[in-house]
Amino acid sequence: MTTIRKALVIGAGIGGLTTAAGLLRQGIDCEVFEARPTPGRLLTGGGFMLWHNAFLALRRIGLDEAVAADAVRMRFHEFRSDSGWRLARWRLDGPTARAGAPACALRRSTLHTVLTEAVGEHRIHLSRRFTGHTEDADGVTAHFEDGSTARGDVLIGADGLRSTVRTTMRNGFEPPPRYAGYTAWQAITQLPGESLVPTGTFFNLWGKGGLRFLYCRLNEHEVYWDAITSDRAGGRIDTLRLPRGAALAAAYRDWPDPIRRIISSTDEQAILPVPIHDRPPTGGWSKGRAVLVGDAAHPMTLNLSQGAGQAIESGVVLADMLGRCEPGAVPATLRAFESARRARAADMVTTSWRIGTLGLAHNGPLCRLRDVMMFTFFDSVARNQSYSLMLDDRLERTPLRIAEPLGHEAG
Ligand SMILES: Cc1cc2nc3c(=O)[nH]c(=O)nc-3n(C[C@H](O)[C@H](O)[C@H](O)COP(=O)(O)OP(=O)(O)OC[C@H]3O[C@@H](n4cnc5c(N)ncnc54)[C@H](O)[C@@H]3O)c2cc1C
Repeated sequence: MTTIRKALVIGAGIGGLTTAAGLLRQGIDCEVFEARPTPGRLLTGGGFMLWHNAFLALRRIGLDEAVAADAVRMRFHEFRSDSGWRLARWRLDGPTARAGAPACALRRSTLHTVLTEAVGEHRIHLSRRFTGHTEDADGVTAHFEDGSTARGDVLIGADGLRSTVRTTMRNGFEPPPRYAGYTAWQAITQLPGESLVPTGTFFNLWGKGGLRFLYCRLNEHEVYWDAITSDRAGGRIDTLRLPRGAALAAAYRDWPDPIRRIISSTDEQAILPVPIHDRPPTGGWSKGRAVLVGDAAHPMTLNLSQGAGQAIESGVVLADMLGRCEPGAVPATLRAFESARRARAADMVTTSWRIGTLGLAHNGPLCRLRDVMMFTFFDSVARNQSYSLMLDDRLERTPLRIAEPLGHEAG
């Protein structure tokens, strides 16, 4: 039985809402404070991938089925060159059976809606920008820009990459995040037609000039895509003279279909460029009664499609541990949470960063070498490494366990 009665969660993104849903399941009351006046991009924004480990974590708070119900199950993860050469094709059925959980593509809004319903809209306070906190022997007080305050036993900073809670914990100084050297232009477009983009395959294309392109079908009508452009290709993305869609169409003009069709079918307003950042793994996720989860603690580049997955895992583990917090042990419990999660999250951050550097290859011969390397290793070594990282259930790293014992052959 926990001694925590109330938690204050800063940020209503995936990390904050997952933590809040987990806390409520543990019988801990919580309030979520979000700076935005509306849920914003989360409800209108793009799609993404949730891998098996994210669904295993969601299962621990009873939400995996609700999320999967509105998602597309992925059966293949396919890698291609910009000339259309198939470099590798991972079958996902085997790992799905082994893990006892799917890998899915979905709209961000699907996950957000399920999490919001689990937490309850009345517990999510919009337009409440956190500015700082004070702490005493009995609890913690959060301060907001509008002059209001809130009081709880623990403060959970789920306020993303540029977390104010993180900076506050470090007495007002935190170095800026690390820029990866590339931007992801993400969008959803209306593009019916199985022949162009088949359901159930996550396509991952690697090209020359520091260009990449990811896409997958979200449902009968919609396709989600990410054009990843390195700064070295900056001159080719001419947004000074051209609208975003036209600038991308020019950069990808030599790529095979459906890339050109996907770009040309997309509304200009739907294309959202996101410069990609992370932070080199560091400790210091907690201080006294304050703790960080999600991108606030372990932001990572998008290359493993694991940022949200790790935010979900951290939220579930934190809620679980706070649900067993002994009297007077809030700081110790928060430190134990960091010990349980830090190595796994750090592995994800580091691996994701390394994959991203592969995408920066610019000139033809180097890209050709990368293609050959991917063709040789991606169906074996890279897949095995990726899965052992994703489905790592070593207890010293995380209390999350794989639902089913490993028994099947690799897919
Ligand atoms: C292009 C791209 C593609 C991606 N694809 C994938 C993918 O396929 N799979 C995957 O798992 N991950 C993916 N990710 C990563 C994933 O989106 C993030 O890791 C995840 O959204 C982090 O969630 P979070 O709740 O920790 O942070 P955020 O989503 O950033 O949420 C933080 C919230 O806190 C609020 N906030 C900030 N400051 C304050 C304040 N002072 N007071 C109150 N509220 C505040 C913000 O408004 C925001 O709502 C991708 C990321 C990018 C950029």
